[in-house]
Amino acid sequence: MTTSASGSASTSVEWSVNVTVIDHNGTSKPFMRVFRNFRDVCDDYALPPVTDLLELASTLVAVRSESLDEARLADLVEENLRAQPHLDVHRHRENVVARTVLDRPMRLIIAGHLDTVPANDNLEARIVGDRLYGLGACDMKGGLAAMFQTAMDVVEPAVDVTYVFYSAEEIAAKHSGLLQLFEERAELMGGDAALLGEPTSAMIEAGCQGTMRARVTFLGERAHTARPWMGRNAIHRLREVLASLDQYEGRRPVIDGCEYREAIQAVFVEGGVAGNVVPDSATVTINHRFAPDRTAEEAEAHLREVVGECDDFEVTDMSIAAMPSLTHPLLRTLADRSGLEVRAKLGWTDVARFAAYGIPAANFGSGDPTLAHTRDEFVDRHEIETVHAALCDLLRHSPDLG
Ligand SMILES: [Zn+2]
Repeated sequence: MTTSASGSASTSVEWSVNVTVIDHNGTSKPFMRVFRNFRDVCDDYALPPVTDLLELASTLVAVRSESLDEARLADLVEENLRAQPHLDVHRHRENVVARTVLDRPMRLIIAGHLDTVPANDNLEARIVGDRLYGLGACDMKGGLAAMFQTAMDVVEPAVDVTYVFYSAEEIAAKHSGLLQLFEERAELMGGDAALLGEPTSAMIEAGCQGTMRARVTFLGERAHTARPWMGRNAIHRLREVLASLDQYEGRRPVIDGCEYREAIQAVFVEGGVAGNVVPDSATVTINHRFAPDRTAEEAEAHLREVVGECDDFEVTDMSIAAMPSLTHPLLRTLADRSGLEVRAKLGWTDVARFAAYGIPAANFGSGDPTLAHTRDEFVDRHEIETVHAALCDLLRHSPDLG
């Protein structure tokens, strides 16, 4: 597949980019470039020709952007998008929002996070054949490359588009760039549907499962272990709950043709007083992954039922699920026109945040999701090209609103 430069990108607009690149030795290299046009590049770190999406992704990997250190990558994205006359570009903290303003009847949000997890001896961007290795290659600089190039290429989309490049997805929600935008720049975040470029092996992964954690405590009575009949062992009381978790078979509900798969797992156990004391308290922390046909309240009620009798049940964490919303015309059009496989998202993603703001969303990006956060993560050229081609095609064809 080949892509072509947009008309605006090939005119001789001049602009400059100030970027500091940290290479794989950790050496910081500040530099400033002036591009005559998007193709006019001549440096290792300059943006590659628009036809090579793997090269573009490798440039994005070369600009280090671990969580809370995304400024350089945000600068690079912002400067290049600002040079596109068809985009209205905003910077808010380390987030970049670029919008078309064409007064179309619908608006699609295409979003991706700029940050990566911490480096694990994998900072170097390395291309072997048609495969790119390096920190963030899979999660999610391949997806960012597809999204960035789509923003460059589709000058007159059939629906309005908002491209959202945001910070701090890989760490606690209080840092989330996406939440900063929804809470502080809500006027930029309106839309009818959203696509999130998280790795999905270039399939459409609809909605997402919810996740909750609860601490469940069982009490007993202390006694000397030489005379255990005088007390009650709280750790032994875990037996029943652990047995029911072990035997638990989650539902597999099918929603909009996507099969979800619920799960309940014990993830932490605490208890014990001393080597010669019958323990009087034991706590098991349980993670419940639930399908989008359950609300938060229903998920909690179900977990309480599975746990049965206990002395304390405390919900410590709750993230709601998101419905697949595949009946939405924009998401339906993507699935129909691309012919790509559609399946359920079993993990939790920012799709749920869009859903919480009333925007139906799906995950669609390059890279195998099981490689995310691993040292040897990689992305393949054909997946980036597939995502880019499908996004461009979707934007060039108005959905059937009937
Ligand atoms: Zn990600």
